[in-house]
Amino acid sequence: MTMVQELHDEIIPSSYVILAFTQRCQCCTAVHRWSETYALANLRPSMGLGKRISNLHRIDRPKYDLPIEKRVMPEKLIPFCHSCYFPTLHDLPPPPVPPRQLLGGLTEPPKPLTTVKREATKRPTVADLMELLK
Ligand SMILES: [Zn+2]
Repeated sequence: MTMVQELHDEIIPSSYVILAFTQRCQCCTAVHRWSETYALANLRPSMGLGKRISNLHRIDRPKYDLPIEKRVMPEKLIPFCHSCYFPTLHDLPPPPVPPRQLLGGLTEPPKPLTTVKREATKRPTVADLMELLK
């Protein structure tokens, strides 16, 4: 059990709240509904100053006999869902292709090796050596 979980277990809630969610799939038009249960606690700041803070904590099962409030959340539209047979995005354009994608400079083309033309070293001839000894 985490410290946060232990902290929430010590807080006595004032009521339970059921949040009712609805999602409408734009691809297959399926409507998905589910509920989540929360414990609502009104916390007083530790210094006794300021206004109370409402804390909603998701729970698996209620512990006490308290009032239950139901809140219907606004419906959300989703592009596709797990019920879609074959969701596609064929009505959208393909992603743009940048001229080149650099990832840490790895995809940058290697620089051509610079070839320095060396003048062929001419082996000194005997005549050249004789010239040096003069
Ligand atoms: Zn769907």
